[in-house]
Amino acid sequence: MSEFEDIKQHPNFCAAPWYSFYTNGFDSLRPCCVFQGTLGAVAGRSPDEIMDSEELVELRSKILKNDLPKPCIESCIKAEENGFTSHRNRMNTWYSDLKNGVTVEQMSERVAYLQYYDLRMSNLCNFKCHFCSFENSSSWFDDANHLPGEEVFYSDPVTGNHVPTKKKIWKATVDFEKLLSDNVEYLKYINISGGEPLLIPETYKLLESLQNHKKFDVVISISTNLSTIHLDKYNLLNQLRNFERVTLSASLDAFGQRAEYLRKGTNWGTIVSNWNSLKKFQREVNSKINLKVHTTVFNLNSFHALDFYDYIEKNFEPDGISLNPCSSPEIYNLDNIRPSMRRELISHYEARANPFFQPVLNQLKSINIDHFSEENFSHLRKIIFALDKIRNSNFHKALPEWRDYI
Ligand code: SF4
Repeated sequence: MSEFEDIKQHPNFCAAPWYSFYTNGFDSLRPCCVFQGTLGAVAGRSPDEIMDSEELVELRSKILKNDLPKPCIESCIKAEENGFTSHRNRMNTWYSDLKNGVTVEQMSERVAYLQYYDLRMSNLCNFKCHFCSFENSSSWFDDANHLPGEEVFYSDPVTGNHVPTKKKIWKATVDFEKLLSDNVEYLKYINISGGEPLLIPETYKLLESLQNHKKFDVVISISTNLSTIHLDKYNLLNQLRNFERVTLSASLDAFGQRAEYLRKGTNWGTIVSNWNSLKKFQREVNSKINLKVHTTVFNLNSFHALDFYDYIEKNFEPDGISLNPCSSPEIYNLDNIRPSMRRELISHYEARANPFFQPVLNQLKSINIDHFSEENFSHLRKIIFALDKIRNSNFHKALPEWRDYI
């Protein structure tokens, strides 16, 4: 049995906490980027101390007992039930390349080294996307302060409690360059997102460090809003010249006026121009770079997602598109739509019959209309129109397909 087959025999197994850790601008320790909540704090810990931390040991022990915690079920298992490729699926696939012959039965709490760094080094971002929050975008700070009934808070990395804050931009206190040099011989994957990583100097410093260590075979993955590809003296494309395995994922879920509304801060012309620069770089300088589009399907872009997909395939010609369901905040979930809209959407997706969107259709069909929450939907409505006031924008003008539903 191949090692991947071995992992597939264990339906709820997730390898992430055996070789990966995630941290963010608030120093939170998690096994991966989709795990909602926190296990503890990262600051001051060496790679070995992170691997042997009580928090990761406990999570590994739970997974070996087939006792997946709630954040894993909410983020990964539910997505898989509808046919999406979950983060757990991806982490298990990568791990099957790394685990050197150890089967799940033979796994104990520590069989590997820290090989995957998943970093959000700051919340600094120039966009304030609808389904985002202050923790992931500093630009949300002012809007969240003006929304009635909302307060600006971050999650304490140790307790997970919400702590009100008046500080807009947060940066991790972790010494990332040290974390890299202490572990450079084992490091295989580095995933950088934000905030907007291409506005954060630490991103470019980390790439410089990798170059200094001649670590050109590390798998680098950067998720960006594509608003820029340089910062002051740093030019991303110059830095990526010699790396052999790079994926740049543009987080896009709509085009044109809808993109400019849903991901506030977007200038669609700039996105197109930056994408074209990346394609030119791929053609002329480094053909090993992968250019992908990372799409989140949530209620507000659900009518548009099929047109968006066709547009991107035709005009961007990406090396791949990944489709992800929005699991948080809850009000943006695909489940939070009126039953009449759900019926319309099912017809819309069935008529277009695009197999890529089968997981979306599955999710729509699995919604239990008896569980429709008027309260959640009213909250969505309240947030949309309050944000329109704050941002001087117009929901119905930007997304006319919603006129009959909200
Ligand atoms: S199951 Fe999902 S959320 Fe849980 S550790 Fe694995 S990848 Fe992360």
